[in-house]
Amino acid sequence: MGKKGLLLIISGPSGAGKGTIVKALQREIPTLIVSISATTRQARGGEVDGVDYFFLERDIFNKMIDEGQLLEWAQVYGNYYGTPRHFVLEALERGNDVILEIDIQGALQVKKKLPEAVLIFIAPPSRTELQQRLFGRKSDSREEIEKRLQCMAGEMKLAAGYDYIVVNDSIRRAIDNIRAIILAEKCRTWRL
Ligand code: 5GP
Repeated sequence: MGKKGLLLIISGPSGAGKGTIVKALQREIPTLIVSISATTRQARGGEVDGVDYFFLERDIFNKMIDEGQLLEWAQVYGNYYGTPRHFVLEALERGNDVILEIDIQGALQVKKKLPEAVLIFIAPPSRTELQQRLFGRKSDSREEIEKRLQCMAGEMKLAAGYDYIVVNDSIRRAIDNIRAIILAEKCRTWRL
């Protein structure tokens, strides 16, 4: 049997640049699979069902929880988000590396079930910069942005439970650091 793939989990405050980093990694590493989460949140302009998320009604989401179809799930900023279990586990078995872009509560749930998961926290260079990025994005209301900024302080404390912290002061450097982490993790003695 071939080697199992690497399970990478990326978290960090809203606006830290997770989305951009994950898209770049996907482009640069064609064998890397990005998991598509289920959510009860409304689609934002330009988001596509089945591509960005599976946008679900609350009762369907609840059914997935009850049937054990989610590897993890959590309530984030008032909406529910979860990772479809089968898709991720099958890709790992096939030997593909898989990346989850999920919040801290979800990341810690996965680490408990699958201790080999590699948790990477993306930190913004500063609160000021984060504020500028969130307001510059223009996709969320002021109220929504305030809510996200308030969550940040608590999130940064929890980052201590992560395996790695990557400061996103430059997108290129952040991507290169994550690629270095991937290479190093593949050389772990227990994986050989
Ligand atoms: P957004 O609504 O901006 O796309 O995402 C909001 C937050 O939900 C982000 O912190 C994102 O990482 C998190 N998130 C997205 N998908 C999942 C998921 O499947 N599980 C968990 N626990 N969090 C998720």
